[in-house]
Amino acid sequence: MGTRQIVPAGGGAGLRLARGERLRIIDIEGGQTGDLMAFSQDGRERLSNGRSFDYGGKIYLSTGDVLWSDRSNPMLTIVEDDVGRHDFLYAPCSLEMYRMQYSVTGYHANCHDNLRSALRALGIEPDSLPNAFNFFMNVEVLADGRLRIVEPRGRAGDSMVLRAEMDLAVALTACPTSSCNGGAAPRPIAYEIPS
Ligand SMILES: [Zn+2]
Repeated sequence: MGTRQIVPAGGGAGLRLARGERLRIIDIEGGQTGDLMAFSQDGRERLSNGRSFDYGGKIYLSTGDVLWSDRSNPMLTIVEDDVGRHDFLYAPCSLEMYRMQYSVTGYHANCHDNLRSALRALGIEPDSLPNAFNFFMNVEVLADGRLRIVEPRGRAGDSMVLRAEMDLAVALTACPTSSCNGGAAPRPIAYEIPS
């Protein structure tokens, strides 16, 4: 079993995965969401929600489903999933989002900056970020196309495991946006790379 690492509440972390390695993401206290961003280690391929929806034929991804790159290669396969509901539609929360939707005037911690910082430490400096895989985030798509962010399904100790299908630079966050976390203040996320 790999050493358990902590993504601080409202923060981010970066890690590398070799092809075949697995990443376990743990909802320590329950009800906490976060973002997963993946690039190929040379930075040329990025996570693509559109490719993943196309090749998977659905927007709700769980055990057995693949997260694809923008160059149509498999990046990660979900191999275990206690929670069963994740979002891949929403862009990472950002400072602009907090200013427009929450009337924040100063700085506010956000997943976009946390993902960029974590990727920069891995040598990846993208101009812009694609959509992240928003693990444990629960979004309902209504019949008329409207979106509703609802309470996450994760309970304390629930986890999901993803297997790397190529060598990857990965960034994780523990999202600070309370509306994504059932109204609660942000809590940490943990991860392990089982040996
Ligand atoms: Zn966020």
